[in-house]
Amino acid sequence: MTHRPNPNIAAASSRPLGVAQSLVGKALDAQTVFSRSVILTGEQETLITKNGRWCLLDCLQLLPRVVGPLTVVLPIGIGELEAEVRAIAARVWTRGSVTVLTAGAPIDMRHAVAVLNIGHQVRNDLPWTSINSDGWLARCSSSETPLPASCGQANPIAALMAASLGVTEVFKRVYGVPPDVLPQCEFVEFSLFELSTSPTGPGPELPETIDLPDTVLIGGGAIGNGLVLLLSQLSLRGRLHIIDKQAFGDENLGTCCLLDELVWLTQPKAVQLATWLDERSGLVVTGEQALVEDARAGAFVKGMAVDLVLNGLDDVQARHDAQLMWPSIMVDGGINAIGAAVVTHRLDQPQGACLRCTFQLPLVDGRVAQAKATGLSFESLHGDPGRLLTEADIEEADEAHKPWLREQLQKGRTICSTIAEGQARAALGVQLVAGFKPSVPFVATASAALVVAQALRSLLYPQSRFVQLFQMANLFLGPHASAGVLTPADARCECTTQRSVILRVAGARATATRATAQVVGPVMAA
Ligand SMILES: [Zn+2]
Repeated sequence: MTHRPNPNIAAASSRPLGVAQSLVGKALDAQTVFSRSVILTGEQETLITKNGRWCLLDCLQLLPRVVGPLTVVLPIGIGELEAEVRAIAARVWTRGSVTVLTAGAPIDMRHAVAVLNIGHQVRNDLPWTSINSDGWLARCSSSETPLPASCGQANPIAALMAASLGVTEVFKRVYGVPPDVLPQCEFVEFSLFELSTSPTGPGPELPETIDLPDTVLIGGGAIGNGLVLLLSQLSLRGRLHIIDKQAFGDENLGTCCLLDELVWLTQPKAVQLATWLDERSGLVVTGEQALVEDARAGAFVKGMAVDLVLNGLDDVQARHDAQLMWPSIMVDGGINAIGAAVVTHRLDQPQGACLRCTFQLPLVDGRVAQAKATGLSFESLHGDPGRLLTEADIEEADEAHKPWLREQLQKGRTICSTIAEGQARAALGVQLVAGFKPSVPFVATASAALVVAQALRSLLYPQSRFVQLFQMANLFLGPHASAGVLTPADARCECTTQRSVILRVAGARATATRATAQVVGPVMAA
């Protein structure tokens, strides 16, 4: 029998519970919340489509992390999907339970506090939400307005967005968010191609196979999990390298949609995700546990001609470091507790800000306050806040803070996270739960869907409307509360001042890639 670490259940649920508590404005009793029953079901004619299948499987990766007892009620006649559902239900991480039933006879759903249906029908006698997707359109309705039934144009990106919207609706019901604070979703149809809730159609069909340029994915947390899930569902070819500095911990179970195997805990996020994706896609995937700054100069990245970078990061310094790869397409997903945003920088769209001029580093003037809160010396606080805290920092620190700093060192904190922890501790007069950051997995997967949509739109349809920054400010209010804006490039930033050098390097990269393709092509065909 293999040894399995016992996850800390409270840590695993703390982040979603934290989001719910901020929405309802009061403390919630975890035991009550996780005793409420939820049903996930679907209509046979939807589930036999690729989109219907993805919607169902994505919901199954998300829902068990944030609810208690989940019952999956499947219609008959869905072929192999039933076996797939049973396999995921058996392995998915949950603090509740997942039961799979096949609806030979009608099942009483009145005990459920939320029913999520993959299909188009609506029911006003139950706490019902329907989702589906068609092409680039993600649809959701918790009202009496049924959804269009068309689901024929396969596209997993919109399916993941639909799943994210549907799980958001369930979350509101299960955690008891009052409808006068956040009403249930009326009918919504959101296009990830047009980035609009008044779409003109399902958008272009995805090619049967998509050849990615050499791609780097940075960040293996909640957004990174969503990105990897989507990349496994798309039909892709090429090389992908995943970079993340951390290992999985208990607190990730509630937010990372692919973290099911407890043997992943304490293992490097980048390596686990790379292995998982390599087995499930046409991509050749590698992973590396490292800071972006170090990985950028490392053997893996140097051995590639990186032309597409996908980010799922939560700190500004890492974004600034990632931008220095200057790929033709850089897409950055970001989240807070309730909303998702995506920033796109393209070398062929120089009017838009890069990540370095979109995201400002914290001002140096803050160092006095930072030193006071952490005991770190000005030398330690100067320079890269994304680097890891070291013994040398503690040597030079204020004596009274040394025991606390040693704890931070043991936790593998960066300078930046030490400052955040120190300031939060100083502000509240209490010690926060280690690394506490309210977060839910479905906001992260919504961000991942936006990132992959922007990346493929830029890659396959470069003439389509360029959107530098798109925000879904509050997913709990739905995609209606979203907007695209253009942050103009800063004339003092290197994206502008060094543009000729950046373009020359990109040109050399393209030439090298073409030469490699010519050499590799016949060999691979042989
Ligand atoms: Zn810039």
